[in-house]
Amino acid sequence: MTRAINFNAGPAALPLPALERAQAELLDFAGSGMSVMEHSHRGKEYEAVHREAQALLRELLKVPESYDVLFLQGGATQEFAQVPLNFLPAGRTADYVITGAWGEKALSEAKACAALGGGAVRVSVSTGRGDGKEKQYTSAPADFAAAPGAAYVHVTSNETIHGVQLASQPGAEFPRCEAPLVADMSSDFLWRPFDVSRFAFIYAGAQKNIGPSGVTVAVAKKDFIAQGRKDLPKIFQYRTHAENDSLYNTPPTFGIYLVRNVLAWVKEQGGLAAMEKANREKARLVYGAVDASGGFYRCPVELQSRSAMNAVFRLRDEKLEEQFVAEAKKQRMVGLKGHRSVGGIRVSLYNAVTVENARVLSSFMAEFARRNG
Ligand SMILES: *Cc1c(COP(=O)(O)O)cnc(C)c1O
Repeated sequence: MTRAINFNAGPAALPLPALERAQAELLDFAGSGMSVMEHSHRGKEYEAVHREAQALLRELLKVPESYDVLFLQGGATQEFAQVPLNFLPAGRTADYVITGAWGEKALSEAKACAALGGGAVRVSVSTGRGDGKEKQYTSAPADFAAAPGAAYVHVTSNETIHGVQLASQPGAEFPRCEAPLVADMSSDFLWRPFDVSRFAFIYAGAQKNIGPSGVTVAVAKKDFIAQGRKDLPKIFQYRTHAENDSLYNTPPTFGIYLVRNVLAWVKEQGGLAAMEKANREKARLVYGAVDASGGFYRCPVELQSRSAMNAVFRLRDEKLEEQFVAEAKKQRMVGLKGHRSVGGIRVSLYNAVTVENARVLSSFMAEFARRNG
């Protein structure tokens, strides 16, 4: 078997040991004679997995006691609507910081919820230039202020399509903000350590950095969840999931099991500090190849906002991009085509992508530029 070198944006590469563990345990989980998928979500075998996944996440991220860790369904996209449904009451305003396409989508769902619930939505910062489909995002703000009395401020910590990351520089912190900060961290959750206590509500679809699709992880301040609307259907209230330990209804058990495997692997590697070290090195290798190419490759994103997770670039001769992708594929490198809305090349460098993988790509980039420059 030859594994692909997977630079997909999501669903994305998973750590090989996490997959191998699933393979070894597939038919006979914990000596039970069946797979974890076939167990009741109320039984002791699954319960141990559920608890371990929560405990690992708490340990890796140093989640304070005053926060809940939730496993949800519906993807990050569902949170785009569920966050304003819960936290934007009538007469209040929610602020949105827009640094790319995912933030735009979150904003659009928030507007629909505001129209239903009598709240309002304000764009506090947008770094977009141009209009409609031509809109370009090449930077994230170093700072932003919330409207006085804002119900919350929503940010997208990493824009997966545009390759724009908030606080992407080594040592840089997320901007401070008076209002409760809500973050879509789908594509940069657990790539490095960060201070959870700065945030009121964090959510992340698992399929980028921590597991398979079908699980959304949320880390939420208990007193923020308690403020949520109580007149929503129970299934849409975050408190329901918090009060029932993410077992209100059947959770995506196999997905959470795989998240457990990935988190155990992250811990074995040395935790989030080790993840950050490797991720910085991978980003250095790929952006290094861009910057050393004498303009053959160019990254549209400003230096301080370049994403360590999704490196986007164009070729000087855009007609060569298809050839770049095809030749890389012959060397087992897949997932390099940019998102259909922006084109170009996108290299996703999530935790499961190894430094060696990035080195292979970086050498290929240099060699491709030499041959075609
Ligand atoms: C992928 C992604 C989403 C959408 O996730 P789904 O699971 O498809 O709903 C939202 N936000 C960001 C930042 C993403 O990368």
